[in-house]
Amino acid sequence: MHDNNLVKDALDLLARKWKIDQKLYDFQTGKYEGAVSDTSVNVGGITFHIPTLSKDGLYILWKCLWPDCHNCCERQGRLPLTKDDIGRIAKKVGYSSKAEFVRNETTISSWQEQEAFGNVITTLSMLSLKRKKDEKPAEDGMPLRCRFLDDEGYCGIHPDKPGVCWLYPFASWIEVDGMGHPAVHATFQFTGDCPGFYLDGSIDSMMPVLREYSTKIYNYNMAVSRTTRESYGFVNFVDLRKS
Ligand code: SF4
Ligand code: SF4
Repeated sequence: MHDNNLVKDALDLLARKWKIDQKLYDFQTGKYEGAVSDTSVNVGGITFHIPTLSKDGLYILWKCLWPDCHNCCERQGRLPLTKDDIGRIAKKVGYSSKAEFVRNETTISSWQEQEAFGNVITTLSMLSLKRKKDEKPAEDGMPLRCRFLDDEGYCGIHPDKPGVCWLYPFASWIEVDGMGHPAVHATFQFTGDCPGFYLDGSIDSMMPVLREYSTKIYNYNMAVSRTTRESYGFVNFVDLRKS
């Protein structure tokens, strides 16, 4: 869950360049007055939670507007690295030693995430790629222009960029179902930085995107599991429905 004032500031900045639907603006800033429900859709084994403006009969959907937009790279809050990211990016930016890469190019991030419906709080601590050469730990979570973004809107370390860059604006987590099996869930994170959200009376237009992202989200969660299992990072879930 994001601070509504910060989201409002980010959306107001975004609105200088992009037209933001008033209902989407109100929803993201916590001002939407109608009921919001959760529509669950299972695609490729991932349970996607789609926020739904019930009174208006509208789903909140998303598509990426790159290359016309690269706002998530302009206002990147942090770049947590999985173990796989560390090996890949160290090589990409010219290090033969992972330890040296970690020492020079990363900082430690620690943050809490609450998914869109407020049920699961996840606390994570991971190594993060510095978004600017002299990034300080106190800047963790503050929007910064990523040093790898070039003037044309391309990422200088694509396709080796961190897993989180492939995922935005989705947030995902693992829950254990009634049978004791882990299941991956995903929803949107609303930071106010993405102009790609839109409203539609049907989810159909977003199905190709959900199919594409189900693979990315599954792979990312497996990479995070390997990262925490091998003590490159720590993750803790609190399910408020069970406490
Ligand atoms: S901010 Fe949203 S629309 Fe823009 S590039 Fe990032 S994900 Fe795509
Ligand atoms: S690493 Fe690349 S994709 Fe990720 S924030 Fe930086 S420029 Fe954007």
